[in-house]
Amino acid sequence: MKTEIIRRKFQGGPPLEIPVATIDGAVSGPIFTVISGMHAGEYSGVLAAQRLIQTLDAGRLSGTLRVVPIVSTAAFLARNMQLSPIDEREVHYYAPGNPGGSYTEFQIDTLYSILRGSDFVIDMHSGEFAQALHPWVPVPMVGAPDVQEASRSLSMGYRVEYVELRRERSSVPRLAAYLADDGIANLWAEVGKNGLPDEEHIAIHHDGVIAAMQTVGMLPGPPERPPQKTVEGRRFQVNANQSGVWHSYVREGEIVDAGQELGKITDYFGETLEVYMAPERALVLYYWSSPAIDHTRRPHGYDWHAGLVSLLTLDSVIEPAG
Ligand SMILES: [Zn+2]
Repeated sequence: MKTEIIRRKFQGGPPLEIPVATIDGAVSGPIFTVISGMHAGEYSGVLAAQRLIQTLDAGRLSGTLRVVPIVSTAAFLARNMQLSPIDEREVHYYAPGNPGGSYTEFQIDTLYSILRGSDFVIDMHSGEFAQALHPWVPVPMVGAPDVQEASRSLSMGYRVEYVELRRERSSVPRLAAYLADDGIANLWAEVGKNGLPDEEHIAIHHDGVIAAMQTVGMLPGPPERPPQKTVEGRRFQVNANQSGVWHSYVREGEIVDAGQELGKITDYFGETLEVYMAPERALVLYYWSSPAIDHTRRPHGYDWHAGLVSLLTLDSVIEPAG
């Protein structure tokens, strides 16, 4: 195994550091790259990445496994949440190709120098400190049909209730769409909540990657095939219209009906300012468990900090076989 830290100078900002571990198998084969820590408080992925680096048996591996345990090291060390602490951008929604732009664009361009040439990429995410999240695996169904199918096959070993096939390009994070367009099968797994490095979530991330590597023939043995529901729907987020103290009435993983109360914003004293309703029947992917809501905080137009509940309509649900 080889470990290195990619270091790059950035004009007008702190230097960039991205750690990479490379494990070469006994025989040649595909290149599989696993990344985590893009969003700095999503620790279950980071610890799963460390587990892969420390425990994967290179003697059983065909091909090469690359692992980036922490994509956003500056944000990680700052205990930052979701957005870059340097330019307040959302790394997942930037594509490579403009290294002379912002720090985040420089960062994603440097990250792509590591991802380029991969056959498969898994990007491990979870719920941030302020997010209570129901584990699920979104698959970008964009790009060539064979790449879409390969991406989908990577999801089949995850012990999650839902695998979401996401076909609407505008709702696919730009990095995931860029990878798919570049012929790299990929998914991003959302497992873990509230920034907690919980053992169950670490294991789901880790075992999901192992199953994906078995699926593509890079590790021996039959891959795990836990029961999963395959869902397609429309993602949307209920945002705050005013700042205040958020009280959620719903929990992650719950299905809410149209008109059901999702929660309320109160003033500092607890007086209700506004009650929020579900506009249609949908699955609660996550809600913001932090009561502190500043609805004006939308750096570069990104509304993460104004979010209250993230929902997915269940337009199509395929129940697990058997
Ligand atoms: Zn994330």
